[in-house]
Amino acid sequence: MQELTHYIDGERVKGTSGRFAEVFNPATGEVQARVPLASVEEMDRAVQVAAAAQPSWAAVNPQRRARVFMKMVALLNRDMDKLSEALSREHGKTLPDAAGDIQRGLEVVEFCIGAPHLLKGEFTDGAGPGIDMYSMRQALGVTAGITPFNFPAMIPMWMFAPAIVCGNAFILKPSERAPSVPMMLAELMEEAGLPKGILQVVNGDKAAVDAILDHPTIQAVGFVGSTPIAQYIYGRGASNGKRVQAFGGAKNHMIIMPDADLDQAADALVGAGYGAAGERCMAISVAVPVGEETADRLIEKLVPRIEKLKVGPYTSGKDVDYGPVVTAAAKANILKLVESGVEQGAELVVDGRNFSLQGYENGFFVGPHLFDRVTPEMDIYRKEIFGPVLSTVRAASYEEALGLAMSHEYGNGTAIYTRDGDAARDFAARVNVGMIGINVPIPVPLAYHTFGGWKKSAFGDLNQHGPDSIRFYTRTKTVTSRWPSGIKEGSAFNFKMME
Ligand code: NAD
Repeated sequence: MQELTHYIDGERVKGTSGRFAEVFNPATGEVQARVPLASVEEMDRAVQVAAAAQPSWAAVNPQRRARVFMKMVALLNRDMDKLSEALSREHGKTLPDAAGDIQRGLEVVEFCIGAPHLLKGEFTDGAGPGIDMYSMRQALGVTAGITPFNFPAMIPMWMFAPAIVCGNAFILKPSERAPSVPMMLAELMEEAGLPKGILQVVNGDKAAVDAILDHPTIQAVGFVGSTPIAQYIYGRGASNGKRVQAFGGAKNHMIIMPDADLDQAADALVGAGYGAAGERCMAISVAVPVGEETADRLIEKLVPRIEKLKVGPYTSGKDVDYGPVVTAAAKANILKLVESGVEQGAELVVDGRNFSLQGYENGFFVGPHLFDRVTPEMDIYRKEIFGPVLSTVRAASYEEALGLAMSHEYGNGTAIYTRDGDAARDFAARVNVGMIGINVPIPVPLAYHTFGGWKKSAFGDLNQHGPDSIRFYTRTKTVTSRWPSGIKEGSAFNFKMME
């Protein structure tokens, strides 16, 4: 069995803690590798390497730093197929979806090519008599990121690209369930010209995460994963004086108004609900048709579409709509929640519980499920299922539908399907959710905008990528300067006013 490594100081380094986690091929259920779980000492070594390498990287002028990212774009495109295959093998998602995962990360790498423009400071000429005032954005030093299994390429790139282009060193602690692609990305960054020690990958579990949160040299931590862990990371990191942005789980509602194009809405729901087996933080997991007639017609259109879904391994190529979920434990959790939905009185309109794929009986495949007449007290409504399960909650009015999205504890994304501009505008203005789609089911903002949810979907105040990421990975220093010829008076004992 393959033994994976860390990536420290420009080399693949074997784990020394003696602890490992199994990495599965979710399509077959086989263990394909084991990944080392770092100790506090191993994390500390990476931090020391990063701290030694970072000052000279920060001293490289911004345009030269950006050129590494220009080269990285070319390398990602060169290796797209290889990266997609490695990603699908550990995660289970289809090859086109894996390429999309890489592509959405690559777009943030492209965004970083323009970072010198965003790193410029501010300047006031003549802020007072003979006085100039300027501010600069400086790198923080050593930064770190902890990423989830569901986007093994995109989310690491969303973090390390802005951190590094700003002049920081970055230590990535990827998900132990999909660790290979992050390692390949670190090697590609060095091939693109990044000095050793600026991007390192330290694999691990809670012990490695806590070592990051408690390390006095690490200045900022980015996290993406489930809400309880996001809240924990935010609390522990912030109490240790670090900057933390921590993004959590989701329960994204799609509101379908009576005037919506229902074929369009049904197609969108099926793609957004079942794509990547529902393992996306921007998946739609709740459909909210407004009015009984809309609901009946929508269900009628959804059922045949869902029954036609092709579930299979990524090796079947383009013939597959979605693949397995990530682990046997994830599968068991999804099926347990489906049972709870049935027990608590929801109507299981499409039942995927007995799904089995010939030749892949040990794979972690879950058939598609559709629930109707779900109510807000049910577990399938309150909890993030993170599987191919769509719940329908019927609302009597637009206000009731809006109220559902507003009252849910998560606030990552939401969408409205309607032809009514007034309703769409009202929805976008009032709903307390971070990312809104108007006739767009998965409104993931592009790289030059920012990504982030509200409520329990995010902790911290700056979003990922876009201009916020440059603010997160730099700090402002403001200089007030006056040359001797500008000093006209002796000592001053009051607070000077600019006249
Ligand atoms: P997870 O919370 O289990 O793991 C995320 C990371 O935290 C991993 O690197 C893991 O090793 C680490 N971790 C796990 N348990 C820990 C603990 N007890 N202490 C310290 N660290 C720990 O999440 P996951 O299952 O990998 O990913 C799925 C979750 O991520 C879903 O909830 C999904 O909604 C969320 N997600 C959110 C976004 C977003 O932008 N809001 C994006 C993608 C995924």
